[in-house]
Amino acid sequence: MARNDIALITGGSKGIGAAIARALARDGFDIWLNYRSGHEAAKEVARQVGESGRFCKLLPFDVADSASVKGALAPLIETDTPLVLVNNAGFSRDGLLAWMEEPEWKETLSVHLDGFFLVTKMVLFGMLKRRSGRIINIASTSGQSGVAGQTNYSAAKAGLIGATKSLALEVAKGNIQVNAVSPGFIETEMTAGLPLDRVLPRIPLGRMGKPEEVAEVVGFLASGKASYITGQVLSVNGGAYL
Ligand code: NAP
Repeated sequence: MARNDIALITGGSKGIGAAIARALARDGFDIWLNYRSGHEAAKEVARQVGESGRFCKLLPFDVADSASVKGALAPLIETDTPLVLVNNAGFSRDGLLAWMEEPEWKETLSVHLDGFFLVTKMVLFGMLKRRSGRIINIASTSGQSGVAGQTNYSAAKAGLIGATKSLALEVAKGNIQVNAVSPGFIETEMTAGLPLDRVLPRIPLGRMGKPEEVAEVVGFLASGKASYITGQVLSVNGGAYL
């Protein structure tokens, strides 16, 4: 029996990552679903993936921790290489820089940038050897426009956009495409506490986005329809940053 292509999604237990898992399963991928600690939420996503007739392997590890990343992925990549990697795991630790402590700075950079580096390194050789792969990094409007109170998060996401472009140039000859999707304000736990009266006036389409609206763009970039796109940043932000 032919094996399904695999998509590895980091931070897939909730929000945007969970929507990406459902969309890619619907599109025919088996899912390797990473998350950090939300086991029950991850099991529910696995169940939803199963409803699409696809297999879901749960992989709880901290993307910013080198030993954990290697421990979880090294045994798997001995026999399989994902066709698609979505670097989505992340969080924000907002605050004005004047009051920001070192952990808030370092942890935010680490989850987004070390996470990208460590997880991508694990699958890149396999992709290069096989001469196919799609790497999709979830950036943020904050990394493009800047947002007061998010100096750490903006730096991380701007860094991720730079990394996306450089890696795209490095691996294009190996037939690997690397792109970023840059969401604006999306309805997830991460944005649950935001004051809508201050947020909505900043969004020309007049509403927050849904995780599924980001997931569809990731699905497109993972598909054969995006065969000539690499090194790009696709914004999904309702016009919040042009
Ligand atoms: P969310 O609902 O809070 O989900 C975050 C996911 O990341 C969870 O599955 C969480 O797992 C996982 N995670 C966090 N830290 C991790 C770590 N160190 N190792 C492994 N997994 C980790 O967040 P979201 O809003 O969907 O955000 C997803 C991505 O989109 C993030 O990169 C975020 O920066 C980006 N983004 C979001 C928005 C927005 O408006 N929501 C806008 C722009 C960009 P556990 O629950 O198990 O910790």
